[in-house]
Amino acid sequence: MIKVLDEHERTMAFAEVALGQVKSLRQTAVPRNYEIWYVYATGYNSPLNKIINETLARHGKLTEADLEQIYETYLSQIKTTDRIDKVGARVIGEIDDVMTLISDALGMSASYDDSLSGATQKLSVARDRDQIKAIVETLVQSTREMRDTNKALEDRLSLSKNEISNLQQSLEAIRAESLTDPLTGLGNRKYFDRSIEMAVQNALASGEPLSLLMFDIDHFKSFNDSYGHLTGDQVLRLVGMSLKQTIKGQDITARYGGEEFAVVLPNTALRQALTVADHIRRAVMAKELKKKSTGEILGRVTISVGVSMLKPGDDTDSLIERADGCLYAAKRNGRNRVICEVDPEYAAESHSQVA
Ligand code: GH3
Ligand code: MG
Ligand code: MG
Repeated sequence: MIKVLDEHERTMAFAEVALGQVKSLRQTAVPRNYEIWYVYATGYNSPLNKIINETLARHGKLTEADLEQIYETYLSQIKTTDRIDKVGARVIGEIDDVMTLISDALGMSASYDDSLSGATQKLSVARDRDQIKAIVETLVQSTREMRDTNKALEDRLSLSKNEISNLQQSLEAIRAESLTDPLTGLGNRKYFDRSIEMAVQNALASGEPLSLLMFDIDHFKSFNDSYGHLTGDQVLRLVGMSLKQTIKGQDITARYGGEEFAVVLPNTALRQALTVADHIRRAVMAKELKKKSTGEILGRVTISVGVSMLKPGDDTDSLIERADGCLYAAKRNGRNRVICEVDPEYAAESHSQVA
């Protein structure tokens, strides 16, 4: 009883610290933020405490983007690793069982072999009917045992086959989840980093064109400030949905960061990429936002888009850098527009950055 109370008191103390932090830093008390501070209070995850302390020392606050990053890096990844470890342990257990079974079956088959050779020898020296009968009966008996062992092995292998196929599915689900942004259902940053690298390598090897769009929601901070973070999240989901509806096939879509998105368009030259970019821009703008809880009309959001195309000598970083530069130029030139790397606005931008 005392132990239960201790546990209760101990966890309540962590809970109070966690809630106190959420309150004093004026953060949203959503489960993710609460979990971060709870783990912080326990002190069990020292890299998490270190990054929080450093960020607070440097900026005096933690933004939602900081919290998301911390959660992704120090908490959700641990959960994924835990789950992979558990599935891994089950795979190893299954393999152990099957190996034992196979070695039992091998032993059985060797002794069957012995009894066959023994019977052959005995038969060659058997003198009467009764002796032959006894030898044949022993043979029938060991053949039955062998058949039973084979049947058991077959049944167990068939069970194992199902179990392994379930485990395969679990691993695939974990893998997919670890590459998905939970808010929008698009690929996350890890997925983007991996996919763009592969797409760039393929394009460089094949000589096919490849374009990159990077876009960012306009004035999103003031939208968040006016309507709250949860409504902000709803907008992010809506933008994600507009993106999914516009993009198809082999194109790679991802949430690049807080309110920034990226689309890799393999086999697509700049002109077509501009058309795709403008479709996305229009699709986002076409959606009227309604607050879910009250039905209040909140208006529309717009996005600014930067577009670059892979050229000889490029690598992933230089391609991203140019798309990002174009996005910056789109913001500087009034937002709600698409700018690509051959537009004069980008040229002026990159020129002024060099100067
Ligand atoms: P600009 O037109 O120049 O892009 O202005 P902005 O206000 O959109 O840009 P800024 O980079 O100043 O602000 C981005 C804001 O996006 C900061 C933060 O409030 C918000 N944000 C980032 N990630 C999330 C998120 O996951 N959910 C919500 N609701 N808001 C987020
Ligand atoms: Mg923005
Ligand atoms: Mg931004």
